[in-house]
Amino acid sequence: MAGIYIHIPFCKQKCHYCNFYSSVSHNHKDAFLKSLQVEIEQQKDYLQGEEILTIYFGGGTPSLLQRAEIEHIVQKLKDTFYISKNAEYTLEVNPDDLSEDKSKELIDAGINRLSIGIQSFHDKDLKYLNRVHSATQAHRAIEGALKSGFTNLTIDLIYGIPTLSPENWIKNLKRFFDYKLPHLSAYALTVEPKTPLHVLITKSKIAGIDEQNMVDHFRILLEQTKVHDFIHYEISNFSKAGYYSKHNSLYWLGGNYLGLGPSAHSYNGISRQWNYSSLSKYLKLDDLKKVIYEKEVLTTHQKYNEYVMTSIRTSWGCNLDYISTVFGKEYEQYCKNSAKPYLDSKKLQMNENILLLTDDGKLFADGITADLFYED
Ligand code: SF4
Repeated sequence: MAGIYIHIPFCKQKCHYCNFYSSVSHNHKDAFLKSLQVEIEQQKDYLQGEEILTIYFGGGTPSLLQRAEIEHIVQKLKDTFYISKNAEYTLEVNPDDLSEDKSKELIDAGINRLSIGIQSFHDKDLKYLNRVHSATQAHRAIEGALKSGFTNLTIDLIYGIPTLSPENWIKNLKRFFDYKLPHLSAYALTVEPKTPLHVLITKSKIAGIDEQNMVDHFRILLEQTKVHDFIHYEISNFSKAGYYSKHNSLYWLGGNYLGLGPSAHSYNGISRQWNYSSLSKYLKLDDLKKVIYEKEVLTTHQKYNEYVMTSIRTSWGCNLDYISTVFGKEYEQYCKNSAKPYLDSKKLQMNENILLLTDDGKLFADGITADLFYED
C-alpha cells in the first residue's frame, strides 16, 4: 500500500492564513516541470516496487496546470512506478480555475477525484481569508465539476473564521449537503506564526479567533454531518460510505508515500525525508545525483509518536495491541497510563483495546495527542 504526492508550488495570490510553500510568480513553471521529471527518475526505487494506490496533486494550486502538463506527469509516473489500475488520482483545484470545460479536461487527463478549495460560500469570509475566488465562483466550480461527470468530489470548508456567524456556518454546510457531494474536509482556522493573518491579528488590523465561536462551529459540524449520515472518519474529514480519501487514509494508516516537488515529504517505514522548501534549489535538479532533501532515520520513540498522532484522530483509533506487537509492551503500558486521565474524563473511550476520541475529546485532540507522546 503506497502513494505518491506531487506538490505544485504556484498560486495566484497568497491566502492570509496559508503557510504552505508556494510562489505567486509562475515564470519558472516549465523549469519546475522539467525538474519534476528528473526527481521522479531519481526517486524511482524509493517505494521499492510497491503497488501505488493513490496519486495526489496538491499545492500550491495544481489547477494552474494545463491538461497536457498533467498528462505528461501521469505518463512519467506510469512509466516509472507500479500503479494500480484502480488508483485514485486526486487533484486539488481552486474554484476560480474550474469550469465545466476544465473539469472535462481533467477527466481526460486521468484525474478521477477533485478536491475543491471552497472554504466558504460567503464573500465576507473569503475576503477575510484573502482567497482569490468569490462565492459565485465557488458555486460555479461545483456545478461545472458535477456537469462534467465527476462523481468523486470533495470540498474544503473552514470554520472558526471571525466573520462567520454560527448561522452562516450552518448555511455553508447546508449548501454542501444540497450538492449531495460524498466527502467534506472541514478545518478549524488556525493562525500560523509568520503568516499575514498572524501579523494582521497581532496588529489588531482584523478580528482574531474567538475560541467559543470555534467550539460552537465544531459542535454544529458534528451534529449536521450526523444528521446527513456522513461518517466522521478523521477529525477533519467526513465521508459517505466508500468515498474515504484513499490518499489521506494512507497517511493515517501508516502507509508508505513518496512526495515530489519543493517542500514535499516522503516516508517509507524506516526514514522520512523532506525536500527543501525552495523552488530555486529545486530548479537546479538537473542531475540525478543532486540531493534536494533532508533525511531522518526514525527511532522507535518517533515511530510510536507518529502512529499515535495519526491514528488517534481517526475512527479506526489507536490500537494498543498493534502498539504492543510493533513497538513493545512498555509502549503499550505507557500509552495506557497516559490515556487514563482522558478515559476517566470521557474524552477518550476504549473499545476492544482500541483508544478512540469521544465527541468531547475531539475538541482537545491536539492536547490529548501530545500527552500520549513518548518523550525522550
Ligand atoms: S491557494 Fe492554497 S496553497 Fe495557495 S496560498 Fe491559498 S491556501 Fe495556500
